Amino acid sequence: MNHDRAKMLLPAYADRQTGPLRRFLLGRHIARCPSCLAELETMHAMRTAMRINLPMHRAPPSLAMRIGTALPREAPPSIRWRPMRSGMAGSALAGGLAGIALTVAVTQLSPQPDTLIADVVSDHVRSLMADHLTDVATSDRHTVKPWLSDRLDLSPVVKDFAIEGYPLAGGRLDYVKGHRAAAIVYRRDKHVINLFAFVSDDRSELAPRQLALNGFNVVRWRMDGLSYVAVSDVEASQLLAFARLVMGGP
Ligand SMILES: [Zn+2]
Repeated sequence: MNHDRAKMLLPAYADRQTGPLRRFLLGRHIARCPSCLAELETMHAMRTAMRINLPMHRAPPSLAMRIGTALPREAPPSIRWRPMRSGMAGSALAGGLAGIALTVAVTQLSPQPDTLIADVVSDHVRSLMADHLTDVATSDRHTVKPWLSDRLDLSPVVKDFAIEGYPLAGGRLDYVKGHRAAAIVYRRDKHVINLFAFVSDDRSELAPRQLALNGFNVVRWRMDGLSYVAVSDVEASQLLAFARLVMGGP
C-alpha cells in the first residue's frame, strides 16, 4: 500500500472501520512510515483525550424508542458483514500477497477473531520506533512491579530472567484494545520483548498460543485473571520459552 492511499485510510484505521486484509496492509505500511505513524499517534491521543475529558450523557428512553420505531423492522443481513473474498476477487493479487492473505485467514479462524494481535504488534513496533520503550528503565523488578501496580489496577508477573537469558529492561504504560495495559520490557540478545498484561473481559485461563504477524512472533495466554501477550522478533521457540518462564514453568 502506498503512502497516499494509507494516509487517506488512516481515520478509518483508527476507528477500526477497515476489513482484516486492508487493516493488515495498512498496519504494515504504518510500521514502516514515520509520517503515517505520527498521524495515527495524534489520532489515538485525541481520541483518548476526548474519551477521558468529554462528559458522557445517556440518551433518554424516549429518544431510544423514537429511533427504534423509525428504523426498519429488519435490516438485511448482507449489510452486516462483507465477506473478505469480495474485496480481493477483483484486485490483482501478486503472488507474494497470497502468504499475507493466508496469515489473515489463519488468524480469523481462531475462535475469537479480534484485532488484539495486530494491536500488540503495532504497539510493539511503536515502542521501538517512537523511542519510548520504557517509562521506568531498570532491571530491578522491585522497582518495576510497584511502579506499574501504582498506575494500573493490576499486578502482573514481573521477574528478571537474566540467568535464563531474558533480562528485565523496564516497564511502560500502554493500551491494548482499549484496555490500560502494563508493558513489561525484556531483552533477548539485541532483541526486545514486550510483554503486555491487562485485565480482559474473559478471565478464564488460556494455555499459551503462538501466532505470527508481519514478521513478529506473538504468544498469548491468560492466567490469574490477566491476559498476557508477548511480542518480539525473536524466534518463536525462544518466545515460547520466555512465556513459560513468565508462567512459572521450567
Ligand atoms: Zn505513509
